Amino acid sequence: MTVAFALLDLLAIALFIGGLHFLNAPPTARFGNRLAAVGMLIALVVVLVQTMGVGWWAIAIGIAVGGAIGVVAAVRVKMTAMPQMVALYNGAGGGAAALVSTVELVVSRANGVQALDPVVAVSLALSAVIGAVSFAGSLIAFAKLQELMTGRPITYVGQQIVNGFVALAILGLLGWFIAHLGVVPPWTYPALLVAALLLGILFVLPIGGADMPVVISLLNSATGVAVAITGFELSSTLLIICGALVGASGTILTIDMSRAMNRSLTNVLFGAFGAGGGTEPAAAGGAPQNVRSVSVDDVAAMLAYASKVMFVPGYGMAVAQAQHGVKALADQLEKRDVKVLYAIHPVAGRMPGHMNVLLAEANVPYEQLLDLDAANAEFPTADVALVIGANDVTNPAARTVKSSPIYGMPILDVDKAANVVVLKRSMRSGFAGIENPLYELPNCSMLFGDAKASVDALTAAVKEL
Ligand code: NDP
Repeated sequence: MTVAFALLDLLAIALFIGGLHFLNAPPTARFGNRLAAVGMLIALVVVLVQTMGVGWWAIAIGIAVGGAIGVVAAVRVKMTAMPQMVALYNGAGGGAAALVSTVELVVSRANGVQALDPVVAVSLALSAVIGAVSFAGSLIAFAKLQELMTGRPITYVGQQIVNGFVALAILGLLGWFIAHLGVVPPWTYPALLVAALLLGILFVLPIGGADMPVVISLLNSATGVAVAITGFELSSTLLIICGALVGASGTILTIDMSRAMNRSLTNVLFGAFGAGGGTEPAAAGGAPQNVRSVSVDDVAAMLAYASKVMFVPGYGMAVAQAQHGVKALADQLEKRDVKVLYAIHPVAGRMPGHMNVLLAEANVPYEQLLDLDAANAEFPTADVALVIGANDVTNPAARTVKSSPIYGMPILDVDKAANVVVLKRSMRSGFAGIENPLYELPNCSMLFGDAKASVDALTAAVKEL
């Protein structure tokens, strides 16, 4: 029987790894997701059978409540709210790892065990600390993205010193707990947990909303590590390997996203990006700028008689749910032999792959989606760059204005196209809260309005030509 369980565990792990592999490319991503879900089902059944009879009712209620929350969330949560949902789920994972450790300790004490096994002592304390940091940090990330609190960095004098002090206290308590194999005064473990929760809160407070997905990805990898360590505590190969997979993929994503913004992880975590300094945020409603507004008919003519048009989608396209309208406009242009390409910035929108997911939903062919480098090679020969609800990712200040908070961030060089038309509702700034000098360039004009309404009007106007 043990061999059968081990083989099923292996199968589940293989399905997880296969699932991750298929997530590599949009056409196979759905299949990858399903493959991993089958792996999860196998893992669940194996664990349930192995623990046959232990707390069946509690497990059944847990599955029913958790499953119901999962189904409702999957159906109701909007694409734009996905980062905060990931934050919440990730927090649940970290919290679960910390809870498992706490229960293990309580049960050992109840069974009269004084000194813990060294492996258990190390893994128990580490997974409790990492899990609690990830839990508290994820909840703050959720609150910031859900706008339950300000999304701007919260900073104060001596902040890093306070955080450093809490981190040192955790290291001290951790070392003490492990060195004495858990035979420490009863307040030590609760103090360790409280300090870890505090660190989770304190370290996310100074990080701005725009950097939150990077932080969530980092916390995600922390949860993976906590879960892997819990696997040592419970002697579960499945948990060790799955936790390691989450930890590794979270780390890779964190590094990739920091690179896409041309910022070091240290700068993301400790730079308080968006706290002020650099360019002043554009006032809500719009800082006065010397911009040119154009009509739908003018833009339609520009598009219809172009030979190459590049669509540049951003967060505003997601808010307006304009992706289907964008595809309809592209179809209309292609009927007139206009070449249409889509320029996708790696951090356009509010989560990795945001634009790819939306455009895939609208059946835009994958071959037309160009990543940053490929898109930038095409702009100089494009007749029109149609910016649809994107702002920061097109901001040329990133190339030239050293004092700008986004200086150095790779951007889509839309200004190199012969004409740039920006679809947005007002002169309000994007997520980074800074002005965009693109709008004042002589080859740039603005088509104000909701992105979906503008795109639909453009499609109708192109049809008329
Ligand atoms: P931005 O947030 O810079 O700009 C979006 C623009 O869309 C706004 O200027 C807004 O202007 C406009 N907009 C909003 N709603 C609508 C609507 N209904 N119709 C038309 N326009 C609309 O988005 P980008 O995609 O350019 O840049 C993403 C930003 O988010 C970057 O700063 C990035 O670092 C950050 N980020 C990215 C993450 C990721 O993983 N992808 C995660 C978190 C942050 P107006 O209000 O005038 O309409």
